[in-house]
Amino acid sequence: MPKIYLIDVTNRDGVQTAKLSLSKIEKTLINIYLNEMGVFQSEFGFPTTRHESRYLQANLELVEMGVLQPIHLGGWLRAIASDVETAFKLVPNLRHLNLSISTSQQMITGKFQGRKNEDDIINDMVGAVDAARALGAETIGVNAEDASRTDLDFLIKFGLAAKEHGADRLRYCDTLGYDNPFTIYETTRALAENVGIAIEQHCHGDLGLAVANSIAGAKGAIDGGRDAYINTTVNGIGERAGNADLVAVILAATKSKGFAEKYQLGGSIDLSKAWKIGKFASYAFGVPIPMNQPGIGANAFAHESGIHADGVLKDPENYELYGFEELGRGDTELVETGREICAGEYSGISGFRHIMGKIEVAFSNREEANEVLELVRYANVESQKPLVEDELLFIAEYPKIAKKLLTLAPLE
Ligand SMILES: [Zn+2]
Repeated sequence: MPKIYLIDVTNRDGVQTAKLSLSKIEKTLINIYLNEMGVFQSEFGFPTTRHESRYLQANLELVEMGVLQPIHLGGWLRAIASDVETAFKLVPNLRHLNLSISTSQQMITGKFQGRKNEDDIINDMVGAVDAARALGAETIGVNAEDASRTDLDFLIKFGLAAKEHGADRLRYCDTLGYDNPFTIYETTRALAENVGIAIEQHCHGDLGLAVANSIAGAKGAIDGGRDAYINTTVNGIGERAGNADLVAVILAATKSKGFAEKYQLGGSIDLSKAWKIGKFASYAFGVPIPMNQPGIGANAFAHESGIHADGVLKDPENYELYGFEELGRGDTELVETGREICAGEYSGISGFRHIMGKIEVAFSNREEANEVLELVRYANVESQKPLVEDELLFIAEYPKIAKKLLTLAPLE
């Protein structure tokens, strides 16, 4: 039976959201948390963008070191052979890619404005797939941007050409959030049946349907006999109204009425990391978690009205669909209300040793402590907010990797 896998695109769609960004260390921690959660792939960035190069290389080093295993780190780029060549020049050990090109008539007339027709789109895409294979790509997804406004016959033709050239997956992008669960089901099923490769669901929330469409699209792919790969972002952060929220997708796939009897998540997903990754992404992006967010919102397990409070105290299952413990929440959090020593871009060694001592990091000598402190200062310059404990631990444990993540050298 085909299965559902998760490709999280926070470090690509999330960071390209207007007014939001992440530092390279924050992006790295997201990759680490996604790996701990059992997510199949993290779309970890843009291999043709120069300020990403060192970050991408450093994360691929973490793969080799076994830190980012077994997750796949996938780069996103335009489906143009010259972009693929640039990507491999800047990030030679890239192994997983998604190659993207617009396929709809709207984009052909409205965006390409006569510069590309349907044949050109297919030619560009297969040229990019061939180049990626020749340069060492192990897995390739081909993205049909604006697929939900693309003629189905052309999408099938596009998918078949991708498959013929060795693509592993076809990403069905509902770029504008135009689908509903009924339409996406029909389309992804038709694509799975007629193209015969795994289908990715890339859904947006412009109509509030991103999670519902992802689940319906996955069902379509599986009913059509192929694996489904749902694209998510942490807290649903993404362009405009956002993407399908990672935690909500896992909850919907595993807890909704009867769904998991036939449609199962592949790999082993550890939902107990949900609270940690959601809180971290909220802090890193500077976007509060709405109180009514599924699973990790402040009110997700709060009860006030008499009948509900009484009912949940008698038996939580009376008014809760799942337990808060499953999401890794329920621990008491300590908030400092008195004296506080912070690590920042102007910190000195004594305060820094105090902070690191509190999280049980001991340095073998003063030199080592100074080196890590210097990296922490730079990390603060980049993130412009106090580092969380896991960032400090990461820098102390992998100072060489941290140095690469913090090295930005424009106009080289
Ligand atoms: Zn998107």
